[in-house]
Amino acid sequence: MDVKLPIYMDYHATTPVDPEVMEAMLPYFREHFGNPSSRTHVFGWTAESAVEKAREQISHLIGCKPMEVVFTSGATESNNVALKGVAWAYRDRGNHIITTAIEHHAVLDACGRLEKEGFDVTYLPVDRSGLVDPFHVEEAITDRTILVSVIAAHNEIGTVQPLAEVGRICKARGVLFHSDAAQALGKISLKVDDLQADLVSFSAHKVYGPKGVGSLYCRMTRPAVKLVPLFDGGGQERGRRSGTQNVSGIAGFGKACEVASRVMAEEGNRLTELREYLKSEIFRRIAGVYLNGHPERRLPGNLNLSFARVEGEALLLSMKDVAVSSGSACTSTTMEPSYVLLALGVRDELARASIRFGLGRWSTKEEVDYTVQKLTERVERLRAMSSGWPATKGRNVSVQDTPS
Ligand SMILES: *Cc1c(COP(=O)(O)O)cnc(C)c1O
Repeated sequence: MDVKLPIYMDYHATTPVDPEVMEAMLPYFREHFGNPSSRTHVFGWTAESAVEKAREQISHLIGCKPMEVVFTSGATESNNVALKGVAWAYRDRGNHIITTAIEHHAVLDACGRLEKEGFDVTYLPVDRSGLVDPFHVEEAITDRTILVSVIAAHNEIGTVQPLAEVGRICKARGVLFHSDAAQALGKISLKVDDLQADLVSFSAHKVYGPKGVGSLYCRMTRPAVKLVPLFDGGGQERGRRSGTQNVSGIAGFGKACEVASRVMAEEGNRLTELREYLKSEIFRRIAGVYLNGHPERRLPGNLNLSFARVEGEALLLSMKDVAVSSGSACTSTTMEPSYVLLALGVRDELARASIRFGLGRWSTKEEVDYTVQKLTERVERLRAMSSGWPATKGRNVSVQDTPS
């Protein structure tokens, strides 16, 4: 097959910078290198106007006011400031936070830290497809609850949560609502007013922008969200995030959002089609394959499968010229089964034998064909090699009829 190797199929871990984004960044390394806080000369003004332009580009994509966008170093920081910043600012009102069992570590570990400080955290369960039940959110809210945090679209299993329903419940109960939307930005429609979200975290490198830059949407009216900043310093970003802004990175992030607004609908359709093709080809050619996550409510480029009767680690390693991953990038160096798949009720053996395929802007049908071919060969060989497992052809099942 005529395809350039290695193939990148891990667009949830990170994405390459779009050439258009790269172009938009370059001037801010050289001739326009100024500090946006320099108020006395044109170098500062030029840098400031680049930051403000990016703020507008992002606010356009998510439907908010530019001043509600706070630039950060990425979604990890945004999640940390959303959780800790709100917890510390509203401590006198209550000490209860609600989140889910399948959040990214940046949310889970920030919650863990807050628990050590005396906050109570409820980790809501999810169903077989990874969905949170908004009714469970409603039930968990008490008069001590200050914040609900639910991931928008999942980095491992791609499941898209019913955020608008959760947002409506939070609003009705006067509880702040945060969402980690690092994977959702630029992939699915995400308007903060539709979701009734008060805080939303984003990362540039998941949307064809550079690494090390992100933002936090922070609602400024009805309600005006209070935050205790993580850093003390020069008071940049209206005091919400001190430190000289990453001007070139921010300019790139802004451009990445502009490109996303332009191509999102068409790219979403193309990737959904390509993903369904990848899925149907794998199911057609390999027995004992299980779909993880929701069959329809998922990110266009995401496919997460478990392969019965193979050692997951061995399968991944044998796919050397196709970059895919098991679980989330951050935990794939360990042999532990994915905590996300376990939370879905996937049995241990299958949770250890999962592969996440992440398709993106430059994925092609040829790459998918190559991947299916390689995968078929490898799974067959591994199954033949392992003596304990019979090479019988089982029935393929999707999540709905998977026995729990
Ligand atoms: C990548 C990711 C993060 C972390 O973002 P960084 O910008 O790399 O810090 C947080 N949450 C989710 C869902 C992610 O996919």
